[in-house]
Amino acid sequence: MSEHLKCKQCHAEMSQQDLDGVSGEQGVLKVAFQKLPAMVCPNGHKRFVSPQFPMQLLDHLAGEDEAELASGKKKGLIFKEYHCGSCDAKLPSEASGSRTFGFSVGIKGLAPFRAELTAPVYKCPSCGKEQIHSLEEMQGLTPAAMAHAFKAAGLKPE
Ligand SMILES: [Zn+2]
Ligand SMILES: [Zn+2]
Repeated sequence: MSEHLKCKQCHAEMSQQDLDGVSGEQGVLKVAFQKLPAMVCPNGHKRFVSPQFPMQLLDHLAGEDEAELASGKKKGLIFKEYHCGSCDAKLPSEASGSRTFGFSVGIKGLAPFRAELTAPVYKCPSCGKEQIHSLEEMQGLTPAAMAHAFKAAGLKPE
């Protein structure tokens, strides 16, 4: 990818490295990345492997990975309630636990790395299926959770 990239902060040469334990939370959602590719200089300054990387990652997580999770449906305009995505029974408001879902993220030109999403799950009283309350709500929390993760890791756009 970017050859001989110079650090904007100290002008040292940057090289691509994999970062472990990059994580952040927003609301009920926690995101974590292992082996996240980044450009790092010898003085520890970090930036994304490319300007497009955060959007590509968000597209992957919110568009593909989260869409695979078992999810309920939000109903009601004033009093929110959630219904089972399988049998449409009303889901409890108390979570039955918290689950971590792992994904392998493949972005063109980069080695695959691991993303983990941790969120509360709710067990359907009728069919027993465990699911997140709402895909849309999870997708809505994802950009801010990612931003917190990048900020905590010192990852900058450039
Ligand atoms: Zn630097
Ligand atoms: Zn059900």
